[in-house]
Amino acid sequence: MYKTHTCGELRASHAGQTVTLAGWVHNFRTFGGVVFLVLRDRFGISQIVTNPDKYPEAAKAIEGLKNEWVVQVTGSVRMRPTDQFNPKMPTGQIELVAQEVTVLNEAKAMPFVVSRDDEEIDENLRLKYRYLDLRRERMKRNLILRHNVVLFMREFLSERGFIEVETPMMFKTTPEGARDYLVPSRLYPGQFYALPQSPQQLKQLLMVAGVERYFQIARCFRDEDSRGDRQPEFTQLDLEMSFVHRDDVLDLVESLITTMLPEVAPQKKLLRSPWPRLTYTESMERFGTDKPDLRFGMELYNVGEIFNESEFVVFKSALESGGVIKCIVAPGCAGYSRKQLDALTTTAKELGAKGLVTLALTSEGPKGSGAKFINDKELRALTQLLKAANGDLILFVADNAKTVHKVLGVLRNWFRDDLNLVDPDTMAFAFVLDFPMFEWNEEFKKWDAAHHPFTMPRLEHLDRFETDPSTILSEAYDMVCNGYEMASGSIRIHRRDIQSKVFHLLGIEAEEAQVKFGHMLEAFEYGAPPHGGIAPGIDRLVMLLADEPNIREVIAFPKNQAARDVMADAPSFPDERQLKELHIKITE
Ligand code: ASP
Repeated sequence: MYKTHTCGELRASHAGQTVTLAGWVHNFRTFGGVVFLVLRDRFGISQIVTNPDKYPEAAKAIEGLKNEWVVQVTGSVRMRPTDQFNPKMPTGQIELVAQEVTVLNEAKAMPFVVSRDDEEIDENLRLKYRYLDLRRERMKRNLILRHNVVLFMREFLSERGFIEVETPMMFKTTPEGARDYLVPSRLYPGQFYALPQSPQQLKQLLMVAGVERYFQIARCFRDEDSRGDRQPEFTQLDLEMSFVHRDDVLDLVESLITTMLPEVAPQKKLLRSPWPRLTYTESMERFGTDKPDLRFGMELYNVGEIFNESEFVVFKSALESGGVIKCIVAPGCAGYSRKQLDALTTTAKELGAKGLVTLALTSEGPKGSGAKFINDKELRALTQLLKAANGDLILFVADNAKTVHKVLGVLRNWFRDDLNLVDPDTMAFAFVLDFPMFEWNEEFKKWDAAHHPFTMPRLEHLDRFETDPSTILSEAYDMVCNGYEMASGSIRIHRRDIQSKVFHLLGIEAEEAQVKFGHMLEAFEYGAPPHGGIAPGIDRLVMLLADEPNIREVIAFPKNQAARDVMADAPSFPDERQLKELHIKITE
């Protein structure tokens, strides 16, 4: 080894020893004629001082160093004077007196300061030099946290009889609702592998294979428009179990996360344990979303009853066309300015609402766009139902239920952030259950699978396939936390007749089903056990535990928001020969 100890290892007990450290020049300063060098490696930092009288060469070498050079220093460990102890540094009681210094490699001037975490650095610059960005403390912490999370998962599941099985990346289309990434085949002109959007089919085939308890830290590939916080490839804890009911899967994941938190992120507190389990309908009704943030109230209220005689055209027409009137109460926001209310209205309109009706409860009576349309009786009923008081702002949306939920769900989270209503260290996990099996796709006038096509519909709803598919519920479930979807899963179809029925409704006809999923259908005829599973997203979980604002911060080499790898500059043009071998011609 180039070193006898790491830069994070030396303590008072090492005083008097001669040691060798190796690492990067973190920073240095001169103080009263003495040069202080801070050397860094993965494990920490150590202070190194010079003694020019005794070791003139080492002192000279240190004076010539620059930030981020790679050096090896041999020296003797000594106690610092007590008034120079640095309690913030684990090695803060000692220092090393340099006797011999070897420069292992020089470094160019850095594109940004590596030794400080408090600076805003342009993200594309960070990603271009990701290998330098990862040297920073914050990034190192995230890598280690991620490692600890994955390690915990592997141990927890292994102890419970799960085995990790790798599944192929070059496979066939596995639909999860996104576009596939395709890999052209050189050997079979015109044919392509698809990168799996998840190992869904393969884990189910492993159940047919009798594995019973499978998991994998699995990479998933989805070619989606890169909006917000998406990555073309991301990682899931993919798991699947045989002979289980829904609650067996949920209990396992709940216990995994609940036991993991104190180990990997002790500062995080669970809001509630056991975790709440809500139905999809309840979640939509109360929070306007299927990924509710349960850390705060501000629930949606249906106030249609109160306004069923209202002549206010906005309310009246919504009710007449079968829609709903719902509202949320923003506590203490009655004093919002015109400008603030206009901004909220703009948001509501962008989300598809025709507008936003506001009612500010003030000591001089109600104000806002709804004030003159709401009579005393309605006002009394309203404040009683909502337990709203002077100083509060009520925001109404009257429209079809889907729009109302969407708008109020988003506004609710907006107020959460604006009013600082939540504690970032609180983790409000919950399960959302009883999802609809199908969603109507208005654009293509067809049914889509709300989860994926291998999800088991409720057996007692099987006769609705012909009559009313929209009312069929599935055995799917989501795990949510703090307003994010953290996992989805389901009990699967293990009977070929049901799988065929689902494909048929989705418009995947027998022939196409055979071409795409013939292997699955066939496998189900060889004794497929009842099975189900779930797949928590690892990036998002680590992001929340690390208090990071997006998943790129917890992925070593992520794509940027435009789905490019700016470090390697990918995607890139292959050379002509490669294309030719792959039988591919690029047309403009
Ligand atoms: N394959 C699903 C997904 O990626 C998870 C599952 O159903 O287990 O969302």
